[in-house]
Amino acid sequence: MRCSICGGNGVIRIPYSRRIYCRRHFLEFIESKVERCIRRYRLIRNGDLVVVGVSGGKDSVVLAYVLDKLSSVLDFDLILLHVDLGLGVYSIESRDVVYWVSRVIRKPLYIVSLRDLLGYGLPELAIASGRPMCSVCGIVKRFILNAFALEKNASSIATGHNLTDISVYMVKEFLRQNLEGISKLYPRIDGIDGVAVTRIRPLFEVYEWELKAYADLAGLRYVRTRCPGYEPFTLDNNLKQMLTALDSKHPGLLLMMARRFVKNIEKYPNPSREVSKCSVCGLLSSSDKCSFCRLTEKALGKPMGMVVREKLRSLRPTG
Ligand code: SF4
Ligand code: ZN
Ligand code: ZN
Repeated sequence: MRCSICGGNGVIRIPYSRRIYCRRHFLEFIESKVERCIRRYRLIRNGDLVVVGVSGGKDSVVLAYVLDKLSSVLDFDLILLHVDLGLGVYSIESRDVVYWVSRVIRKPLYIVSLRDLLGYGLPELAIASGRPMCSVCGIVKRFILNAFALEKNASSIATGHNLTDISVYMVKEFLRQNLEGISKLYPRIDGIDGVAVTRIRPLFEVYEWELKAYADLAGLRYVRTRCPGYEPFTLDNNLKQMLTALDSKHPGLLLMMARRFVKNIEKYPNPSREVSKCSVCGLLSSSDKCSFCRLTEKALGKPMGMVVREKLRSLRPTG
């Protein structure tokens, strides 16, 4: 197997383009894919400060690493935020990895511990609120990332959602006929002054298997064990298996769907952008209280949005 660019030792074949790359040209291929995505969808502008949510999994580790490489070319800065979910050994391993990443790319790392913030880790919070762990995890991380980015006056929050994840959400929302939900999968969701920071997905066109190959070939550390909250037979995970198998028989199918979705975005109903603020924490909410304040009120007897915002204000970088 020979690299399609330099004729050197090929290590990976890209089925949807039928190209073969050596290690160096594969890494450059992924980096240029992310850069094109940032330029094409205007995800980042000169002088921006981007908060990168890093869990320690391969997606967020690659995201932080590649964004750091692009930051001098595209002239922006980044800081890392890790939410420690209080999941025992898994969380300890995740912390190790995010410390390692921040040292490698030499960017400030902020760590927020759920136990320090609320007195509860994710499992206890899930039991006390009567909700599945992954749903609580989503609410908590979204709230903390947004509140932290507002405190830091950041331009955007970058998350590690990849093409495979986004395709799963797209098909799931289609099956449910939630067309507004599909339109929220665009690579950039603009923020609203003072209540919500812009969210960007620079890995929008990168398959999950490409990210794993990038992490391994670049020699990056990432958490390899499964999160204790992972449930294999959810609709999301069944769809992921199905779509991955389909894409391997029809290479590039998911990439084509994502690109055509972007072209068709105007045809989807626009999610309501009416600004409504949570009566407790003042952040964006679709009802009187935001989902984080409702969740904490149910689990702890008190809505914690404002308390958490104040604690995040005084958070200092680690190390
Ligand atoms: Fe959170 Fe569930 Fe993912 Fe674990 S598997 S990190 S609990 S969303
Ligand atoms: Zn090559
Ligand atoms: Zn709130």
